Amino acid sequence: MTGQIFISLLNPAIGLLFAIAFLLLWLNRRERYVAYAAIAYLWTTLAFLILDVGPALPMHVERLPANIALLMMGIFYAAAFIGRFALPIPWRAMTATAVVSAAVFTWFLFVDPDIGGRIQSISIGTGLIALMIVKALWRVEKTSLIDKALFAIAALSAINLIFRPAIILAFSGDFSSYAEFQQSIYWATVQLNQAILSVAAALCLMVAVALDIIAELREQADGDNLSGLLNRRGFEAKAGAALRRCADEGQSVALLIADLDHFKQVNDVHGHAVGDAIIAAFGTLVRRTGPADMVAGRIGGEEFALLLPGASIDAARRFADAVRTGLAPACADRIPPALTPTASIGLAVGSPTEGLSQLLRQADQALYDAKRAGRNSIRSFSPAPIWLANSA
Ligand code: GH3
Ligand code: MG
Ligand code: MG
Repeated sequence: MTGQIFISLLNPAIGLLFAIAFLLLWLNRRERYVAYAAIAYLWTTLAFLILDVGPALPMHVERLPANIALLMMGIFYAAAFIGRFALPIPWRAMTATAVVSAAVFTWFLFVDPDIGGRIQSISIGTGLIALMIVKALWRVEKTSLIDKALFAIAALSAINLIFRPAIILAFSGDFSSYAEFQQSIYWATVQLNQAILSVAAALCLMVAVALDIIAELREQADGDNLSGLLNRRGFEAKAGAALRRCADEGQSVALLIADLDHFKQVNDVHGHAVGDAIIAAFGTLVRRTGPADMVAGRIGGEEFALLLPGASIDAARRFADAVRTGLAPACADRIPPALTPTASIGLAVGSPTEGLSQLLRQADQALYDAKRAGRNSIRSFSPAPIWLANSA
């Protein structure tokens, strides 16, 4: 027994470990692309087990299922990568490529025995499948580092699979037997490449899953289920970031605080569920009518803060009025007809450098004025007049 056997076990072992890891991950997170990754690694295990440790059969028949397994591995890798971006998976094109590739392989196995031809047929076939990943992901905006890494792995695999056999065969010449092939530099590069790329692909996919989970948890932690807006914590975090952006771009900001009127009475007379329905309708109304860059949160029981980056006082007033007048129609089908919910809104417009707490204070003061003015109204903050000392 030589040391070669340990190298030979590398890919089946890596494949099996990752297949199990992705399977466990999938059991906890039923996302298709995670299942595809588990299947891809199972095919890897099978292919390399047959190729490296399986017995040699007459006419090397075992090579056919092994190479079909390699093509299947390519297809499921592609499905995992493309599925991760929620894009349509080109099953038909991949299957057609695999069928042609397997047919050419079979020709060079039984009809015109040629190891070089067999190598090229499978390597180029899997390379074309990798190219389909590159094509699918080409137009996708790859915002995170991990998305860029997944794309780079696919591109590297495609180049590697399509060009490497021709280059190496040109240097080493064709193989006269599988005994020679298994001992060749070519096969060593395949094993090493496969080991490195499959570990890199698995790590990237796992980090991608972890980042998705973190993003979801963050969204849950920052969100308010009832209104569908942010909660206070989420509002403060996102509003702080929006203010920094506005400061960088030299924009002003508008902040609205809306408070539902006589809400305690609404609950007392009509019940808590009706109160909840009004809060939910308010959230839907705000999301529907607000600008895309608005940061909106429920910062208290029946109190909402809406930050409008770049909005002028007029635009902020128009939006506040649309919310105020839109509230009753937005609730109409969820509450008793006798009830007409209203909201009071205070607004403040200022420079983002004033800071969130200052803007909140000012909008709150304007809200207080709106309540004092009889509710169901809008007031904007205006600084108290400064009494200049008489210099005379
Ligand atoms: P005002 O017009 O001055 O704002 O009067 P108000 O009754 O709305 O003000 P107050 O602050 O006295 O009462 C707020 C009420 O909002 C008290 C509470 O029962 C109700 N509330 C707070 N959170 C929720 C909620 O999640 N669901 C429901 N249904 N009611 C809530
Ligand atoms: Mg209230
Ligand atoms: Mg209140």
